[in-house]
Amino acid sequence: MDSLASLQPEYEVVIVGGRPAGASLAARLGAQGVSTLVIDKATFPSLPSVPSCGVLYPQTTALLDELEIDEQDYCGDDLRIRRFVMQISGAFHSVFPMVQAHGRDYLCGIDRARFDAAVRGTLDRQPTVAVSDGVSFTDLVRDDDGQVTGVRILDAEGEPRTIRARAVIGADGRFSTVARKAGARVLEDYADRTSTAHFASWEDVAPFDDDPQPSLCVYTTMRGIDVLFFPTGGGRVFVCTHQRSDRVRQVDDPLEFYLRTIERVPEAWRRLQGAKRNDDLVGLRRVGNRLLEPGGPGWALVGDAIHHKDPVDGQGIYDALLGSKILAEELQPWRKGKRGWDEMVARYDRRFRDGTHGMFMATMGRLRRELYDEPPTLVIHTLLRWMLTDDEYRQQFLGFLCRTVPPDRWLTPGLMGRTALRGMLRDMRRVFRRSGAA
Ligand SMILES: Cc1cc2nc3c(=O)[nH]c(=O)nc-3n(C[C@H](O)[C@H](O)[C@H](O)COP(=O)(O)OP(=O)(O)OC[C@H]3O[C@@H](n4cnc5c(N)ncnc54)[C@H](O)[C@@H]3O)c2cc1C
Repeated sequence: MDSLASLQPEYEVVIVGGRPAGASLAARLGAQGVSTLVIDKATFPSLPSVPSCGVLYPQTTALLDELEIDEQDYCGDDLRIRRFVMQISGAFHSVFPMVQAHGRDYLCGIDRARFDAAVRGTLDRQPTVAVSDGVSFTDLVRDDDGQVTGVRILDAEGEPRTIRARAVIGADGRFSTVARKAGARVLEDYADRTSTAHFASWEDVAPFDDDPQPSLCVYTTMRGIDVLFFPTGGGRVFVCTHQRSDRVRQVDDPLEFYLRTIERVPEAWRRLQGAKRNDDLVGLRRVGNRLLEPGGPGWALVGDAIHHKDPVDGQGIYDALLGSKILAEELQPWRKGKRGWDEMVARYDRRFRDGTHGMFMATMGRLRRELYDEPPTLVIHTLLRWMLTDDEYRQQFLGFLCRTVPPDRWLTPGLMGRTALRGMLRDMRRVFRRSGAA
């Protein structure tokens, strides 16, 4: 880490925010030899202020490989998840064996503090990248034409300072101050259906069944509440509640609220009898789903700052790493004078949308189906069961999450028809077997 006093008065690029989006962008710019400053108001290692539990899918891990981040630094053997279990509360469960995708057949459970530190660790190898923690961005500096020419910052002691830059990048998360100060317009906002999430880490959690391998378990009531279990290392498990936020009114006692929510899902609650909860409950009310304008004169956004969404599909870190990769590639010709800034932003916008917007819309659809649709009990016991216990469905679903199956092509009417037909035949065979045995 560089002390504020040792910083230069000017950098080619200043990045605000040093977690997945900001640190990976700095690593890519450092590899191009760009003089870059990364500031973050947090100190590290630490958890992000916007809470996040979760997993990395293989497409995310593949982008981390490109940055030469050693997987052992964020995902040991005990965190390789090859089993995805979905329990429809009170009805049935289905085990999804992990598919092969992007060279891996497992998901990585992560501890965010350790993971973020691993991504930032790559910056130590970049001599042209300076990193300053405990430093808050407060405003953009503009010239008379409105072109951004630098940042105003406050150090940990509250001392103000101005740093000049040719480009300022907001990688400062879903409540981005850079976006606000730049006046970035909200292009899409899906505020009618949102979720509220709370989670804490637990020890001595009972396993799902007698299979000892780490599993990602999703318990869903199909009545507006999910409870998710994510292995997070050292025998700990993150237990996350995820529910429709229109039913969450005043929460006076978040811990009590969290525990009572889990209790409503008996299969999940049973696993916590005898388990010990750590004192780290965090929560996020009304998780927004928004897409912002990608950039303007001298500024651009990346990661959650440009595009944030519900965590139901666990795609946020991938989108942050993908956005930073595209932005680093598009900044290069601009820096060399081969393209103008406006063209750079337009190309970045187009490529980022191509890579993420389909999934963003699919996540909106999944959020609706998982928390808001609330199908009749008969449908849960027939159509839904036929679908979720069907091998082709299981493969397509994981392919969609691992982005090997396009988001608009995984849940087709054809697939739904085939799962219903096969499910009905399975049920009929079972009935005939039973009546034959009787
Ligand atoms: C409940 C929940 C569960 C999730 N689960 C998953 C999952 O399983 N898998 C997945 O891939 N994604 C998941 N996500 C999404 C993921 O956490 C985000 O997409 C990811 O953290 C975005 O990275 P980022 O670098 O853009 O922003 P952040 O990680 O939010 O980092 C932003 C940084 O900017 C800094 N900053 C902010 N303001 C300032 C300022 N004014 N000055 C200086 N610094 C500033 C902050 O200190 C912070 O360090 C989840 C999110 C939530 C809410």
